[in-house]
Amino acid sequence: MSVAAAAPAKLVRLDNYIPVVGEAEVAEIRALGERLTGRTVQMVNSTSVGGGVAEILNRVIPLLEELGLAVRWDVITGGDDFFAVTKGFHNALHGGAWEMPPESFNVFLAYNEQNRARMRFDSEVVIIHDPQPIALINAREAQSGHWIWRCHIDLSHPNETVWKFLEPFVRRYDCALFSSPEFSRQLPIPQYLFYPSIDPLSEKNRELDEEYIRSTLERFSLDPKRPILTQISRFDRLKDPVGVLRAYQIVRRYFDCQLVLAGGGAADDPEGGVVLDEIRKTAADDPDVHILDLPPWSALEINALQRASTIIIQKSLREGFGLTVTEALWKKKPVVASAVGGIPSQVIHKHTGLLAHSVEGTAYQIRFLLSNPAIAEKLGEQGHEHVREQFLITGTAKRALTLFLYLLNHS
Ligand code: UDP
Repeated sequence: MSVAAAAPAKLVRLDNYIPVVGEAEVAEIRALGERLTGRTVQMVNSTSVGGGVAEILNRVIPLLEELGLAVRWDVITGGDDFFAVTKGFHNALHGGAWEMPPESFNVFLAYNEQNRARMRFDSEVVIIHDPQPIALINAREAQSGHWIWRCHIDLSHPNETVWKFLEPFVRRYDCALFSSPEFSRQLPIPQYLFYPSIDPLSEKNRELDEEYIRSTLERFSLDPKRPILTQISRFDRLKDPVGVLRAYQIVRRYFDCQLVLAGGGAADDPEGGVVLDEIRKTAADDPDVHILDLPPWSALEINALQRASTIIIQKSLREGFGLTVTEALWKKKPVVASAVGGIPSQVIHKHTGLLAHSVEGTAYQIRFLLSNPAIAEKLGEQGHEHVREQFLITGTAKRALTLFLYLLNHS
């Protein structure tokens, strides 16, 4: 087992964001950055590809580096037994049952200890993402850097056994960052709201020419003339792909439409294959259901699929934040999503999209949008502005710099 140093994506210059967020915002970021030149930051998480955390780190690290900060990104590693436990934690923290044997906690601690022993923690600010590497706090020595726990999970109703195990680690950090006000816990450390964000200039989100979108549809045998309903998500039960299929099957009775379920695996998610089989079984041989198992380097294809979609669905049963929703709103798409986790911060019902609470509710909202294209368009426009104001990477960079300045000046 070794610790992998992840390589963030290619550099985009800060000035490139001026047309998107304006000169004042970029100037503010530069002003904050100037006060942090040469300061050292370390990010630690459990995968460099797949899922929202890797997506954000890949984009925000180059920005911080351009500003002169020295940022290191380490990805912890572990065996299948470790990721089975951390997936169990993930589901349990999202309110699911905890059914793993008591030794699981020792497996978790042993892998954290192995990673700790091999890693270097000499940065002034260390940000540990999510529960997988949480016990690395054991590496903290007296008077060493500032340690932050960045939680991307909905902790509003955690399984008690798992939370009781993790909480003593959380308490040892200097502060915790959550993606929604409802996720905060009773803790003796300061807690800050940090919305996740997308990069409007990344391959996933930048504008595409029509020809590329058309050729992508052709490649996946999709018909541009009929409505396309899409959910982009890892094949994970909490994303409820089977529920999406059921909603589509209801809508199909009224509209001749197609469904795209596009996803792929994350290196730290062992359940993908099983869920994919469940989806294929439910879809049976409907030629208008397109189940796309995409490799991790599919950002442009995902971008094209989102742009070509008539409606984007995110029918999660639980959700941290749901960057796929942010991506869809940015592309001015009408979104039908479950009112869970961080989604209601993004989808303001009847203003930036439509919320639903069930398969039937999801089908109902999709039918409403297919029948009312002018309303669908308006929701998409308003969604785009909401993302510009709240959920772009420039905002994350500004907030992170402000927090670093605060911590480093209060040592
Ligand atoms: N994603 C991807 N390929 C896939 C499925 C998802 O690149 O096959 C991306 C998706 O576009 C989004 C992120 O992974 O940027 C998922 O983030 P989200 O917060 O929606 O969910 P998470 O996977 O972190 O639970």
